[in-house]
Amino acid sequence: QAVGEAVRLIELRKSYGAIEAVKGIDLSVQRGEVVALLGPNGAGKTTTISILLGLLQPTTGSAALFGKPPKHAISAGRVGAVLQYAEPLDGVTVAELVRAVGDLYTHSRTVEDVLEAAGIADLAGRRTEKLSGGQKQRVRFALALVANPDLLVLDEPTSAMDVAARRTFWTAVRAYTETGGTVLFSTHYLEGADENADRIVLIAAGRVVADGPVTQIKAVASARMVRATLD
Ligand code: ATP
Repeated sequence: QAVGEAVRLIELRKSYGAIEAVKGIDLSVQRGEVVALLGPNGAGKTTTISILLGLLQPTTGSAALFGKPPKHAISAGRVGAVLQYAEPLDGVTVAELVRAVGDLYTHSRTVEDVLEAAGIADLAGRRTEKLSGGQKQRVRFALALVANPDLLVLDEPTSAMDVAARRTFWTAVRAYTETGGTVLFSTHYLEGADENADRIVLIAAGRVVADGPVTQIKAVASARMVRATLD
């Protein structure tokens, strides 16, 4: 294990019955890096992220966070996540929701600090059930910051966000990494990846097709064959 390695996947495989969704993925994310897991729908991004967060068991292979099985870092509050299927609680304000999640941890950030860090201070008094899809997504991101994590794992974090919300979101991510945070996010847009990641891991049909600095992968991704897998 390299010094300062936040994420490590070794020969990860996952089958759902007869469908092999992940076919041997190797991935390493160093502390402080922002890495995009880029691939089309069905490439295996959500499956990979679910295994990394300990929500699914791999068929074979292994996942580690900070050199240990995922549950250690997760139970210690070192990992913040945005998942595609998690719904924020209804019937409370955004500030109340952030406070409720904060109460789950011994050392959480203040509500004001979290809302500020996520760029959603303006949503504090809004009731969660009345938020738009993009606003809910921004609240999910705020909740991921509550425990002051060392790593953020974000599955399609900007889905449903408009251009302005995306800009605010990425500014918040940059502020997070400037304080030493590490980010692994999935996306099926090359644009979201190339502007905001240090490195892109291109996956298609359960395999890593290319892995490298953004400039290098952009060249690969614009090659006709790979572009076809992204469309
Ligand atoms: P998307 O961006 O659409 O979520 P993805 O890259 O995240 O795509 P996965 O959701 O990991 O891809 O799915 C990978 C493959 O595994 C797909 O073929 C999908 O249909 C299949 N799959 C995912 N979850 C299950 C499940 N619970 N049961 C059966 N097949 C599944």
